Amino acid sequence: MKHILVISALLIIVSCKTKTKELPENTNNDLALMEQTSEAPTLNFVTSAEVKESVSYLASDELKGRATGSEGIEKAAVYIENKLKSYNVQPYFETYRDHYKAKGMEATNVVGYIEGNDPDLKNEFIILGAHYDHIGVVKAVDGDSIANGANDDASGVAAVLAMARYFATKKNNKRSILFTLYSGEEMGLLGSKHLADRLKEQNINLYTMINFEMMGVPMVDKDYDAYFTGFDLSNMATKMNDYVDFKLLDQLPKAKEFKLFYRSDNYPFYKVFNKPCHAISTFDFTNFDHYHKVGDEAELMDYEFMADLINKLIPAFETMSNTLTQEIKMHE
Ligand SMILES: [Zn+2]
Repeated sequence: MKHILVISALLIIVSCKTKTKELPENTNNDLALMEQTSEAPTLNFVTSAEVKESVSYLASDELKGRATGSEGIEKAAVYIENKLKSYNVQPYFETYRDHYKAKGMEATNVVGYIEGNDPDLKNEFIILGAHYDHIGVVKAVDGDSIANGANDDASGVAAVLAMARYFATKKNNKRSILFTLYSGEEMGLLGSKHLADRLKEQNINLYTMINFEMMGVPMVDKDYDAYFTGFDLSNMATKMNDYVDFKLLDQLPKAKEFKLFYRSDNYPFYKVFNKPCHAISTFDFTNFDHYHKVGDEAELMDYEFMADLINKLIPAFETMSNTLTQEIKMHE
C-alpha cells in the first residue's frame, strides 16, 4: 500500500503548486491598486489544523467507521455537538439533536443555528450540511476492517464545523443559517430526509441548501476548485462564482453521468422544498481510490487544500446570506 500513499502525496504537492495564485505585480499606480482591491480579499480564517483535528477524530479507528446506530457514531455526534457549543452556535430545536428511527434503530442528526441579524431576512434560511455517518466495519483488507470515512464524509463535516465557527464569530449574516450534520446517509439519505420533512412541516422559508461531500483531496488539472452537482438546475453555482469573482465552481460531466445530485443529502431537501439544493465536492473519480474502502483514512486528506477551499467558499455564503433579494433561483 505504501507506494500508493507516496504517489498520492506527490500528486497533492504538484496540484497545490499549480494552484498557487499569481498576484499582480505591484506597479504602484492607481489602476493596479484598484485592480488589487477589487479582488475578493483572501480569507484566512479557517486553518488546516482545525480541519485536520475534526477529520482525524471522526475518521479515527476509535469511532469504527461511524455506522448509523453504532457506539462510534454516537461519539461523533457528541464531538460535533461540543464543537458547535464551543463556537456558541445555538441548537435549532430544544437540543442539538434531531432524533429519528433509521430502519428501526435510534438515530440522530445534529443541528446548529445562527440567527440572521436582519429582522425580516432572518426568516429566510440557508442550510449548510454534510453527513457524519459512514459504513462502519467491512471485510478486512490486510487486517484492517474499519472503513474510516475520512473523505466520505468527515471532510464535509469538518467544512461545516469550520463555517459554523466563522459565522458564529462574525455574526454578519442577515439570513439565518442552519449547520446540519446527518446520520443515515449511507443507509439511503435517511437523516436528511427526516430533517427536510420536519423543517417542511414547520414551514421554514428555505432559500438554499448546500451539501458538502468528499472534499478532502484536490481535483487534478481543473481551472476551478470544486464541482457542483445539479449545476443546470439553478443559477447557484454561477451566482457563487459571481460573488467571489473567480471560477470557484463548475460542473463535472462524470457527476452528471453518475447522477450524484440524487445520491446525497441535498436531494431530499430539493425534493421536499423544490429550491436550489446542491452538493459541492472534489471527488472526481480519478483522484481518490478509497471510496467506501478501509483505506479512506485521515492521513490521505490534504488539509491545506481543504482549508483553502473552505476559505474560498465562505465569502460566497456570506454574500448569499446578505443580498437584499433572493438572487439564487431554480431555472424555469
Ligand atoms: Zn458521502
